[in-house]
Amino acid sequence: MDFKNHREHTLKYEPYLDRLSAIFRKMDERYDETAGKYGFVCTGCMESCCKTRFYHHTLIEYFYLKRGLESLNSKDRMIIHSKALEVKSQWESPATPDPSGVMCPLNEAGRCRLYAHRPMICRLHGIPHELNHPTKGRAIGPGCHEFVIQCGEKSYIPFDRTPLYQELADLEKSFRQETGLGVKMKMTIAEMLAGSQNE
Ligand code: SF4
Repeated sequence: MDFKNHREHTLKYEPYLDRLSAIFRKMDERYDETAGKYGFVCTGCMESCCKTRFYHHTLIEYFYLKRGLESLNSKDRMIIHSKALEVKSQWESPATPDPSGVMCPLNEAGRCRLYAHRPMICRLHGIPHELNHPTKGRAIGPGCHEFVIQCGEKSYIPFDRTPLYQELADLEKSFRQETGLGVKMKMTIAEMLAGSQNE
């Protein structure tokens, strides 16, 4: 996949992207509601989650990010593209002792350049959560480092990611069925932006 022909793609996929937008709104609302109950506020930290090498697994999120990229001017897109290439090369270099110290190419002075178009994990990371798997059962995930500092003493407030994951998975499934796209997806933001994936 390549961002060079992104406009044609995103116009064609627009109805799916709108549906993803509604799912993301719901994720943001649920997250904000729970974070508010804790009194947790993300103010940015040294261990920024934007340095985490998250992998993203849906094509629909890939095209949504592309939609955001299209809203930028060509100069900014070029800058982001070159940052993405640099991040990739840092990760691939044996001279990078700690790949988790490399910042996401979209993070500029602590702010996400494509905040409204960031993928699911960027939206849900931070507060403790649970996942309820039909066969494996319930798994609890911890909050981030900053959450532990601010709210580590507080009791767990239920935040079930399961229905949110399910909605995204259902959308991805119908998107793939209707478009016929069968490509495997496991990419970092840098890989998405650098346009050097397997198709
Ligand atoms: S996409 Fe945005 S929120 Fe997500 S890691 Fe990159 S800069 Fe951070």
